[in-house]
Amino acid sequence: MLPLPPAPAPLDLHLHFNNRFARLGDAFCAPLAPTPLPAPYWVGFSASAARWAGLDAAPTDAPDLLHALTGNRLITGSEPLASVYSGHQFGQWAGQLGDGRAILLGEVNGLELQLKGAGRTPFSRMGDGRAVLRSSIREFLASEAMHGLGIPTTRALCVTGSDAPVRRETLETAAVVTRMAPSFIRFGHFEHFCHHAQPDALKTLADFVIDHYYPDCRNDARWNANPYVALLATVTERTAHLVAQWQAVGFCHGVMNTDNMSMLGLTIDYGPFQFMDAYDPGHICNHSDTSGRYAFYKQPNVAYWNLFCLGQAMLPLIHDQDHAIAALETFKDIYPAAFAARMAAKLGFPEAQGAHKPVVEDILALLAANKVDFTIFWRRLSHWVRDEAAAADAVRDLFLDRAALDAWLARYAALLTHTPRAQAAQRMLATNPKYVLRNHLGEQAIHAARQKDFSMVADLLKVLETPYDEHPALDRWADFPPDWAAQISISCSS
Ligand code: AMP
Ligand code: MG
Repeated sequence: MLPLPPAPAPLDLHLHFNNRFARLGDAFCAPLAPTPLPAPYWVGFSASAARWAGLDAAPTDAPDLLHALTGNRLITGSEPLASVYSGHQFGQWAGQLGDGRAILLGEVNGLELQLKGAGRTPFSRMGDGRAVLRSSIREFLASEAMHGLGIPTTRALCVTGSDAPVRRETLETAAVVTRMAPSFIRFGHFEHFCHHAQPDALKTLADFVIDHYYPDCRNDARWNANPYVALLATVTERTAHLVAQWQAVGFCHGVMNTDNMSMLGLTIDYGPFQFMDAYDPGHICNHSDTSGRYAFYKQPNVAYWNLFCLGQAMLPLIHDQDHAIAALETFKDIYPAAFAARMAAKLGFPEAQGAHKPVVEDILALLAANKVDFTIFWRRLSHWVRDEAAAADAVRDLFLDRAALDAWLARYAALLTHTPRAQAAQRMLATNPKYVLRNHLGEQAIHAARQKDFSMVADLLKVLETPYDEHPALDRWADFPPDWAAQISISCSS
């Protein structure tokens, strides 16, 4: 057998790694290096995410960085690992899952850097450890789009590609997304240690999360000074706010399994997600979700269900079931209030009031009945508030039932009388995005990227980073989806 070539020396990027998760030890993770991919190339790079991580390298002049972020070279100070977690998938206990294709490089500036698609791990089960170009571009753009919208999310630093083949339904090519977040810890991490009756590890994990991300839980008087109840209540609150933001922008996650729920209340694991085109509360964006468990309108309830899984997993720490339930039940007040506040902002009001509720419910029902494009409606309504005469046709043209819309507009205008129109419009234009990552836009960017044209990935990124700005040169990306968009089928395959 030929001797293996020596492994290349680690690359010194002058990053100060502080690998706190790695120090949790063997029960939590398996140390391992990423598996290299041949001849990588840049597909997309987010300069704003790079700045957040304290990386100032520009991709074009950094071939070493390209190799490091594809998993071909270690970075000095990094202690790569895959972590173990479990979870409920589609409502069923799925047992051990874990990072089957994500490798945590370590933590820099308080941010964990993770390579998704960087090869097999002890948790890969039947999987190949890889991610395909298509889903990697979607995750990259969606992460940065959510950040641009102001919705909590894991970030994406870059996507690199390789012509290495990856088999899914057809033969595709490999890619790696570099993701960043203060932590990638999921509800499923807690479920893992509860299910495997490892109370010490469960406590270590909870203390780690509290000490690093929620230190206020140590002295939260509301929860009998029990930091674990306070943690459950805080995650409940964050999750309620997160899902309220999803519902207000028409974002359908698609796979809200408990292993895809972040302990920091971030949107995590972008797979078959969709920003809705025409408003349809029953919309199911994931082709693999045959029962519609994760239909758009069910997302708040699913979040609540998932939080109960977390609460169950934390019971060995909380001891008193009533305390856990009290913490979880805060969702019932926090979610509706958070959603009402978001919808009030979409309508231009400084805060939610009881009188808004029927107006919100009725416009959502009208949007659904008339199959109105969700993003375009809110944007046009913002223009209508600024200048009724100029924008009236643009709003009315969206509806078949114009009489119903006119009646609604009159009620809305009456509520708006106490709010200066210019102020309301300004608030609305900063709340109702012009651009969202519609499926067909992602598809076009992917199609071009497969021909090695990455310009649409870069241009879409620019627009999605500041989705409330006009970007007149790229207006066409704010337009209605083409007819073929309805045929796009996105499944769990990624
Ligand atoms: P997801 O549906 O992407 O959240 O993945 C669920 C679980 O399957 C996680 O443990 C993933 O790490 C794992 N997984 C998904 N795809 C692959 C793959 N191609 N290779 C290895 N593990 C995978
Ligand atoms: Mg996942």
